Amino acid sequence: MQNYRISINDLPPDGKDFDLNDQDLWQTPLREFKMDCRISGPLRARISVLPAEGGCLVRGELRGQVILPCNRCAEDAVTDIRSNFEEFEELPDEYDTDAGLNAQSGNAASSPTLEAESRIVYERNAPMLDLAAVCWEEFMLALPVNPLCKADCKGLCAQCGANLNNGECGCIPDEGDPRLAILRGLTLPKS
Ligand SMILES: [Zn+2]
Ligand SMILES: [Zn+2]
Repeated sequence: MQNYRISINDLPPDGKDFDLNDQDLWQTPLREFKMDCRISGPLRARISVLPAEGGCLVRGELRGQVILPCNRCAEDAVTDIRSNFEEFEELPDEYDTDAGLNAQSGNAASSPTLEAESRIVYERNAPMLDLAAVCWEEFMLALPVNPLCKADCKGLCAQCGANLNNGECGCIPDEGDPRLAILRGLTLPKS
């Protein structure tokens, strides 16, 4: 995938706007994390980055459409992505990061873990904001916790697994009394 790192030091004082619609920004991590999520309407992120004391202000919006498995019946749940975000990205302190890790673990090789948590990385001592990371993280935050194929999805029958949106399956509803459940499991001796 293309490199979407932008140099924070080179931003004009009144900020800069970015219009991102390269589907690989989302497709690549979706594949990588083997997520059950298909892009059904092109995703587009508009991001404006404003330099600020100690970091930068990242504002923007994300639009598009994806298909997720319905939480109740596992059929396709078409989901519109519409989110607005505004976050302050703090410059990670290079010196503190290295010194802290070395003091804790005594192992300089562990520093990439901390770096991975920040959307700002250093390249040749210059802080770079990773717009690809912004696009992916805002996308994850925009996904619904409980995707449904429709608001009144009836789900699957707990007994036979039939999709109840297609009609009743004929199973007798479980009364749900645990004492009766024990009795139901008994086989009566033949007389
Ligand atoms: Zn459903
Ligand atoms: Zn059933």
